[in-house]
Amino acid sequence: MDHLSPNAISRFTSAVSLDNYAPVVQVISVKKVTETRKDAPERIRLMLSDGHRFTPALLATQLTHFMVDGLLTKYCLIRITKFALGSVQEKQLLIVLALDIVKQERNTCKLGTPLSIDLHGPTFVQQEKAAPVPSKASHLNKISAKAATKGLKTVSDVKGRSTINPIDELSPYLNPWTIKARIENKSDIRTWSNARGSGQFFNVVMMDETKSIKGTAFKDVCDRMFDQVEEGRVYYISKGRIVPANRQFSKVDNKYEIIFNENTTIEPCDDEANVPEIDNTYTPLAKLQDLSKGETCIIALGPASLSRGSGALTSAYTPQLSMRDLTIVDHSGFCCRITLWGKTAEEFEVPENSIISFRTLKVEEFSGRSLSYQNGASKMRIDPDLEEAHALRGWYDAVGATQTFNLCQGASASWGTSASLNRKELTSLADVKSNNIGMNEPAEFTVKLRIKWTRREGTFWYPACKDSGCRKKVEAEGDQWRCPKCNVLWDEPEYRYIASLGAADHEEFAWFSTFNDIAEELFEMRAADLQRLKETNEPAFAKKIKIPYGKQYYFKCKAEENIVYNQSRVKYTILKAFPLNYRTEIKHLVEAIKGYDI
Ligand SMILES: [Zn+2]
Repeated sequence: MDHLSPNAISRFTSAVSLDNYAPVVQVISVKKVTETRKDAPERIRLMLSDGHRFTPALLATQLTHFMVDGLLTKYCLIRITKFALGSVQEKQLLIVLALDIVKQERNTCKLGTPLSIDLHGPTFVQQEKAAPVPSKASHLNKISAKAATKGLKTVSDVKGRSTINPIDELSPYLNPWTIKARIENKSDIRTWSNARGSGQFFNVVMMDETKSIKGTAFKDVCDRMFDQVEEGRVYYISKGRIVPANRQFSKVDNKYEIIFNENTTIEPCDDEANVPEIDNTYTPLAKLQDLSKGETCIIALGPASLSRGSGALTSAYTPQLSMRDLTIVDHSGFCCRITLWGKTAEEFEVPENSIISFRTLKVEEFSGRSLSYQNGASKMRIDPDLEEAHALRGWYDAVGATQTFNLCQGASASWGTSASLNRKELTSLADVKSNNIGMNEPAEFTVKLRIKWTRREGTFWYPACKDSGCRKKVEAEGDQWRCPKCNVLWDEPEYRYIASLGAADHEEFAWFSTFNDIAEELFEMRAADLQRLKETNEPAFAKKIKIPYGKQYYFKCKAEENIVYNQSRVKYTILKAFPLNYRTEIKHLVEAIKGYDI
């Protein structure tokens, strides 16, 4: 504490003249801010503390090397030799223009128990004597009267509200606690049932400037709290059980999550200072191709036109699950399909070409990129009163309605585009076979093939670990499934394809193994759904597996030696598929014909 300059944060944020003022402060967090706009420069956001107050700050771009070089780390002490007060999204923010590292990583903890400072609050009051600072954790909830007055508006209030804890400080060992947070996302009420009972619940994601955390309310607490919280608003929230987060179900980057209980209090807070706004930027559809599969948190906006009407999908989980496809477009020149499910699909009634904004959609990969509306998590607004929506309306009516759009393609490892195909690598199956490619050492080759058969006997799919980084085969254990690699028990596995396809070019035929991402697309169905179909409706299954027949693709394949019953043979595996683009194909054929001197 002795190293820090008293009142530095208050001085920074005041208009008091600060010539030659170079205070020492502690960095209590360092965070890279990822901008949704690709051309935006990367920014480093800091949280600076003088032991009494903390404030967010931006690191000037020319100082990024301090972080890259590992000098600027959490809890290090820095001397700020030059700074400015800037405004970012209408919020005042301290911008660090020059700094010296005073002490590096020696201090492995936060000094003092700093409170957030309100940059919009009344101006700084000269206060040379530092207010008494609680030095032990036991003082966390007793804010001294002195600190709360003196015109320095702090987040604790005079009525005796306990200290506000930054979300990144919450842990099972901190009790009691109070956070001031914005509801970033609120789910619908959902139901659960398992061996221990059933009931309803909802969850919220709360955020402050330090972190986000998920909170869940079950049963009676759910009934009491659901109408109390509104998405986008700021609340004081206190009491509840802080538990290690179940990362399997949570995308929120926090080790912990909150289970609200009967003691939880939630109180609206009109003072939104220091609580970040919800990120309301929209992802242009053109950018969808850069996002990885499964990533949620997409915001798209577009005049929706119904495509393929509505239909019912025979799903693995619900015998008849309604679905409805919409096609949306935006001014990035791309169109994309959004699938609505269940009740949302049934109740969807919107005039053609309405502007709809979507939040938190799931990115899927069926026939290129598509989006899936997650009931409970996704949000949809018809004709929202947003600047972007009005701009889109104007664009659509003027030019968009008559424009043609590109379909969003996935940039997956398993699917390539005709443009990304290296035609110099093309060969024929006859060459591969006659040269024994793959026999001595594994080799890769690319061929243009037409699918002839799907092998029905043998393995078609396997129960896989649901961890996206694992995908190992899991073993049944009671009514659960154990992954031998992760040593995790899953209630159900993820069925993944390992199908065998017969394919031929103009002169040769061979069998190829194919994995999940390619097979899902070829059979236009997930492995679990196809498996269920096999069990319940054999003729429909037999029909379904013929879907790829006759279709032509470029396949990048691997050839390697495989010994079965002492017999050595070469096994072919499809690594990547490239759908044919007929315009490009014709161009190449014309070129080839020109090559013949006739
Ligand atoms: Zn695993």
